[in-house]
Amino acid sequence: MGNRILVTGGAGFIGSHIVDRLIAEGYKVRVVDNFSTGRIENLQHLKGNPNLEIIEGDLKNEQNAKEAVKGTDAVFHFAANPEVRVSTTNPKTHFEENVVATFNLLEAMREFGVREMVFASSSSVYGEPQEIPVDEDAPVRPVSVYGASKAACENMIHAYSKLYGIKAVILRYANVVGPRLRHGVIYDLMMKLRNNREELEVLGDGTQVRSYIYVTDAVEATLLAWRRSHGNYEIYNVASEDWITVNEVVNTILDELRLDGVKIIHKPVLHGVGWPGDVKRIALKIDRLKALCFKPRHSSIDAVRLTVKELAKEVLA
Ligand code: NAD
Repeated sequence: MGNRILVTGGAGFIGSHIVDRLIAEGYKVRVVDNFSTGRIENLQHLKGNPNLEIIEGDLKNEQNAKEAVKGTDAVFHFAANPEVRVSTTNPKTHFEENVVATFNLLEAMREFGVREMVFASSSSVYGEPQEIPVDEDAPVRPVSVYGASKAACENMIHAYSKLYGIKAVILRYANVVGPRLRHGVIYDLMMKLRNNREELEVLGDGTQVRSYIYVTDAVEATLLAWRRSHGNYEIYNVASEDWITVNEVVNTILDELRLDGVKIIHKPVLHGVGWPGDVKRIALKIDRLKALCFKPRHSSIDAVRLTVKELAKEVLA
């Protein structure tokens, strides 16, 4: 295990927290990001740190991928378009941002002999499971193009791991939340409340079930899985051990922001979900991670509450 790490999407939400942790542990970190959703502010506090190099580059471009990978020992691949909703209206973007970018990265790794990859996959690969929580052996049946693109990346990485000896750790994250978050249900609802404190439109019937994990727990799980997994290709669910409904998220936001009397308007599509490709119920078993001695410090509701506190300072102040 060398100490030069490439973090793709390192200016994004989760990626920047991964960068923080790697830098704190003394690694030499290179970030590649096209700044489509990533923000330089997420790395501003590390400005001038000799162990951090930031490259503006787009992984859809083969040459950019090569320049990013060259001279590194391991790749933490967090760059992607994370918006499930966009994948429904614009599938090609997701195919290119997720699948093509991952392919370019793997090819560059093959060319330069980089043998370790940590990949940010998603619980959306499971689609709409019959029962929750699901373990890692549950069928992969994505119902969104986003989920399908993550499953395609996983399979591509699997083939590269078998063919070219790349050791890969696949992390299927539940909803990751925390400071610097700029997409997803908590952020969207808070933005709506910033504009209108009388009424709040909630996508779906509010009974959708999700597991939330605080970003510091997700980073801890990621580093543990990277260091402690033995196989050449390992998959881990990353989540807290409980789950909550969207209505509970809404109530937590209103409570934390001390807002009374907001009229909630549910906007369900299909069978109560928020948009085509959204799933009604998803939660993950994390026994594999626990076998590596992982224990999430925050429950789903704590993770949401802490995130609302942080985002209130970041975007509502
Ligand atoms: P984010 O949008 O904050 O981060 C993605 C980063 O990738 C951004 O900085 C963006 O500018 C960059 N990027 C996108 N396309 C790129 C390209 N072609 N070349 C270079 N950089 C590119 O999103 P996030 O929530 O931090 O997600 C990080 C990863 O984790 C993604 O792969 C996402 O699919 C995955 N994930 C996130 C969650 C979650 O709840 N946040 C859950 C499951 C999986």
